[in-house]
Amino acid sequence: MISNKKGFEVLYDGRISKSLAFTKDEREHLGLRGLLPYSVVGQNIQVKRVMEGLRRKDSNIERYIMLSALQDRNEKLYYRIISEYIEETMPIVYTPTVGEACIEFSHIFRRAKGFYITPDDKGEILKILDNWPEKDIRVIVITDGQRILGLGDLGANGMGIPIGKLALYTACAGIQPSQCLPVMFDVGTNNKEIREDILYLGYPKERLEGKEYFELVDEFVMAVQEKYPNALIQFEDFLTPNAYALLNIYKEKVLCFNDDIQGTAAVALAGLYASTRITKILFSELRIMFLGAGSAATGIADLLVFALVKEGLSKQEALERLWFIDINGLVESSRNDLMPHNLPYAHHHKPLNFIESIKTIKPHVLIGATGAFGAFTKEVIEVMGNINERPVIFALSNPTSKAECTAEQAYAWSHGKAVFASGSPFEMVKFNNKEYRPGQGNNAYIFPGMGLGVIIANASIIPDELFLTAAKTLSEMVSDENIEDGALYPRLNEIRVLSLEIAFAVAKKAYELGIARNKKPKDLKQTISDYMYNPIY
Ligand code: NAD
Repeated sequence: MISNKKGFEVLYDGRISKSLAFTKDEREHLGLRGLLPYSVVGQNIQVKRVMEGLRRKDSNIERYIMLSALQDRNEKLYYRIISEYIEETMPIVYTPTVGEACIEFSHIFRRAKGFYITPDDKGEILKILDNWPEKDIRVIVITDGQRILGLGDLGANGMGIPIGKLALYTACAGIQPSQCLPVMFDVGTNNKEIREDILYLGYPKERLEGKEYFELVDEFVMAVQEKYPNALIQFEDFLTPNAYALLNIYKEKVLCFNDDIQGTAAVALAGLYASTRITKILFSELRIMFLGAGSAATGIADLLVFALVKEGLSKQEALERLWFIDINGLVESSRNDLMPHNLPYAHHHKPLNFIESIKTIKPHVLIGATGAFGAFTKEVIEVMGNINERPVIFALSNPTSKAECTAEQAYAWSHGKAVFASGSPFEMVKFNNKEYRPGQGNNAYIFPGMGLGVIIANASIIPDELFLTAAKTLSEMVSDENIEDGALYPRLNEIRVLSLEIAFAVAKKAYELGIARNKKPKDLKQTISDYMYNPIY
């Protein structure tokens, strides 16, 4: 039986409620007789009802609100729906709709989800964590809302991101929902418009910065070590300098990673490995140019260096394969406006603008991570097409409204030659009688499986080697049929299987590296599979 709760306590507890699917016997035992209409329906019928309702809505934000309410009412049904209809629902529960939901967060707020920490909690974070009802947390996603997708500082409205990411942990990799904790590190916002919105729900002050900011993060991280020592902390959508600073402080001390830096890197690396099956250029010979030199692009480059060195290049040779352009042009060594994470990639070269850089350096691959819509102009794609038989173009900025170019533009402007991937989803494109399925370099290919793997091994930290393992595993699962369609990633509807494979590879590697804190089970894959949440009643 479900629990010792009865009546309304069962019916209105989203974690256990099955609503109309409670059987006659359950209704009797749980004191539900009279509280539900006569009909007992199976979960399949409930799925049908929800999907009908969802498709009847006329905007994605309304669909987001509907699914969010379902998550509160009937968690299993919610996860069954987003797992089974992942291609249809992921763009609603995550990017691009989650971006809109964050912008509107204070306006569409219905019911509090997740955990909020503000500067008023200084010195008491451990104490207030006791208010969270679950005792065995395994994944925490935390943001401070300062760089939400490509949308900037949204303050506490950014809570949509940890909630959405954790929903994907469960839907894509079967992490138990009760073991997930979304955290908003609400230290204010420098977005005056949001702060002055009468409906704003967050800490209505300018952002806490500097020493006090880092001390508060540290108090949180240490409180987690004490209260939830097995929990993975995923840092999400922090402003780039803070993202790097936090990662550098904690990555060798606690079980954590930054998805914008490391998750993005692994998914992009997997796409690059797959692209070489089309371009026939050896991975170790690729010349890669980034537009944007922030956390996403630099994270990709850092993992590329690690991967290239594993292929036998020296670190210097690997660095020389990678070129960056930012808002001020080519990242080169005479510039004095570069951040520490840019310095290894600042080559000795004369200053050039973007187009000049492409013409001079002749990259095989162009990766956009700028948040600047339309930054890949017709000229850019044409020049890449002139230099390469099959130019590889990744327009990674999210949401769709920020993409450097659309899939259609990439195919049309390159006359069908582009090998394209994007950060946000694009529909199939028809060009010259051929259909292309633009692959989405969605971080959801990596982080849920990574989380599952490190949970099972109970890894103490996440070294780069684990991201390399995850990227390789993902790229090996890109089928010939995917490649035939021009897609560099498998279909998302296979995500639970993909996540299981990634988790298996990651956990295995964690044991090899001696960073696993759990004893190795006899049958590792079976143990992972047995752990996975099953959303069917
Ligand atoms: P960031 O703010 O750290 O970096 C942005 C960089 O882009 C900066 O170097 C800036 O100089 C440069 N830039 C901005 N406009 C430019 C322009 N017009 N021309 C040239 N350079 C320009 O941000 P970030 O964390 O690196 O994220 C960047 C984008 O990548 C965001 O839109 C984010 O949503 C996206 N992203 C995608 C994925 C994915 O697809 N898997 C993952 C993470 C981030």
